[in-house]
Amino acid sequence: MICPKCKEKIDWLHNYQSGENHTRLSLFDFKDKKIADYELCEFQANGKINDFECPECSEVLFRDEKKAIAFLEDNDELQELVVEKLNKIKEKNDMPKV
Ligand SMILES: [Zn+2]
Repeated sequence: MICPKCKEKIDWLHNYQSGENHTRLSLFDFKDKKIADYELCEFQANGKINDFECPECSEVLFRDEKKAIAFLEDNDELQELVVEKLNKIKEKNDMPKV
């Protein structure tokens, strides 16, 4: 896949989601100090932010998971539209003349 913003080749996207992050906080000893340790229990998205960003240029490319997945599957919508149109034209030409 080629990023439409920076034209770099990419095969994955950063995903940033807003929501509630449930972690477990505990302290552990590190040398003479106590260090806070957050252990992830569960993340619950609230649907407000769901950005899919290019790992090369960090531009938001999608805000819709379906479009992000379609992009990674390389289902280019424009390409599909062109193919559809070409098939229609072909069908028309194949129709017997009355
Ligand atoms: Zn990019």
